[in-house]
Amino acid sequence: MKIRVNDTVLITKGRDRGKTAKVQKTLPKTNQVLIEGINSVFKHAKASATVRQAGIIQKEMPINASNTLLICTHCSTPTKVKFKILADGNKARICSDCKEVIE
Ligand SMILES: [Zn+2]
Repeated sequence: MKIRVNDTVLITKGRDRGKTAKVQKTLPKTNQVLIEGINSVFKHAKASATVRQAGIIQKEMPINASNTLLICTHCSTPTKVKFKILADGNKARICSDCKEVIE
């Protein structure tokens, strides 16, 4: 996946478009990402073994990774990530703007 946990991304589509936030979780199978404070919904929860407090809780829902752009750690620009195979065989993410490797 182009997006990884702890990346800062720009939301390009949907209700939270234009916001930047940190990625909490990636779901490679569905190409979705869970982002801090983005696409949050209110859920009604009943007290159970797993839910300690009943009532309305705020919960973030994953969004499609294609609706996000990674913010480059070098030039701070939202960028489309490119991949490059390094000399050691590892795949590195490259900023399409400044061509730097994004860790
Ligand atoms: Zn860059």
